[in-house]
Amino acid sequence: MQNKRVITVIPGDGIGPECVGAAMKIIDAAGVNIEWEERHAGERVFKQGIPSGVPADTIESIKKNRVVLKGPLGTPVGFGQKSANVTLRKLFETYANIRPAREFPGVTTPYSGRGIDVVIVRENVEDLYAGIEHMQTPGVAQCLKLISRKGCEKIVRTAFEFARAEGRKSVACATKANIMKMTEGLLKKTFEEIAPEYPDIESWHVIIDNCAHQLVKKPEQYDVIVTTNMNGDIISDLTSGLVGGLGFAPTANLGNDIAIFEAVHGSAPKYAGKDVINPTAVILSAVMMLRHIGEFDAATLIENAVMVTIEEGKAATGDVIGYDKGAKTSEYTQAIIDNLGRKPTQWQAREHQAIQMPNIPENPAFVIPESRRVIGADIFIEWPQNAESLGQSLDSIVEASDFRLKMISNRGTKVYPIGDTQPDCVDHWRCRFVLRDATAGASPEQVMALLAQVATKHQWMHVEKLLEINGEPGYTMAQGED
Ligand code: NAP
Repeated sequence: MQNKRVITVIPGDGIGPECVGAAMKIIDAAGVNIEWEERHAGERVFKQGIPSGVPADTIESIKKNRVVLKGPLGTPVGFGQKSANVTLRKLFETYANIRPAREFPGVTTPYSGRGIDVVIVRENVEDLYAGIEHMQTPGVAQCLKLISRKGCEKIVRTAFEFARAEGRKSVACATKANIMKMTEGLLKKTFEEIAPEYPDIESWHVIIDNCAHQLVKKPEQYDVIVTTNMNGDIISDLTSGLVGGLGFAPTANLGNDIAIFEAVHGSAPKYAGKDVINPTAVILSAVMMLRHIGEFDAATLIENAVMVTIEEGKAATGDVIGYDKGAKTSEYTQAIIDNLGRKPTQWQAREHQAIQMPNIPENPAFVIPESRRVIGADIFIEWPQNAESLGQSLDSIVEASDFRLKMISNRGTKVYPIGDTQPDCVDHWRCRFVLRDATAGASPEQVMALLAQVATKHQWMHVEKLLEINGEPGYTMAQGED
């Protein structure tokens, strides 16, 4: 007999143990040769005083087994610890989050019959989820949106490779590049550079807000959508809603080495322990997991049993037909087990192949430019008065310096030199200094000297060098800046 494949299982918080327990029971009933290694993360670990929510023995188990089936983990909102989910995704560099949403036979929605079959491929570790936040002044908070060329290349290639593995026809790239030209723009640019390598797959770019609109109006036009972390988080909940809700939405977090399978939904604490929730999302995540470990036949066996059960509607859960008359989670799970070996009449499993994860060099200096120079600096200053008084003060400070004050903006809009209109201001000012000699490059010492001069009279909290890379500005203009 073959050795058992060991998989780390994290039951999770709230409804997690019920969902994960259902998936394990079905996999075991299907006769898959798996040994479950139970580990913990999330609320119970926070309570033990481990601030990351992920203890060392969980990390060890994941490193060893490389595949995880995980229940949702609760995260305090607006205060306290970081999300243990995000920590797990980031610690193990599971950079691709695959979220399919396909119409289910027998789950009636306003979209039934339209043939929705869309997959969101969400970048999973960068963007605002880098979680780098600072109070810049007592009244102004900042979150850094970090997007790398490397991260974009990894997610774009994964999206195309995934499309190929599933025999899909198109990949759309959804970004907010019209507003965030550098960060969201980097995904668009990378997508447009890489797409020609996949001539068998149609590709196009769509602005994320229109994508959301199109998904509600005509979701069947999409096949695979690749997008940044925050956008993907939101539109994948939307696509789940189109096919029956979070109870039906599975997901795979894929990295080069480690893969974590879980539901899109959270721990839904109000339903915890009541035996009423819909475990389908975790069961279908487990199906994705089986395909990941090469158990294609077992995956299709279980997927078919789930679809028969949903199609026949005899054991529909409360989220589908109302909690007063819905089947218990345990009854629904047993119905799936009883249906192992049967095939649905209105639904056909896709042909699946293993996804070729992209082979991207690990060198951190992923992009080496031909030229770069520092042409100035944005110094962020806390100032409780108005733009004019700050501008005049800074103009006089740098009068004899290598730099001149080009402009001041407040929350992204130019407010000095004073224009025709003045927006409402807060005490957080971005003061843009540029070298007087427009052909020169500033040394670190010159930037430090500028900062020291400004600091003689003003409280600064943040500095950004203004880089020119390959002759192109590596910064954006303020609204109203010329
Ligand atoms: P949630 O747990 O996903 O629940 C939101 C609502 O979705 C529920 O109230 C319920 O809707 C429905 N729902 C979710 N899962 C369901 C299921 N299996 N069966 C039936 N209905 C289901 O979202 P939340 O309330 O915003 O978050 C709760 C906690 O989970 C938070 O601590 C959050 O941080 C965490 N979370 C964890 C993950 C993760 O581990 N990956 C993901 C998201 C959220 P009705 O109320 O309409 O019945």
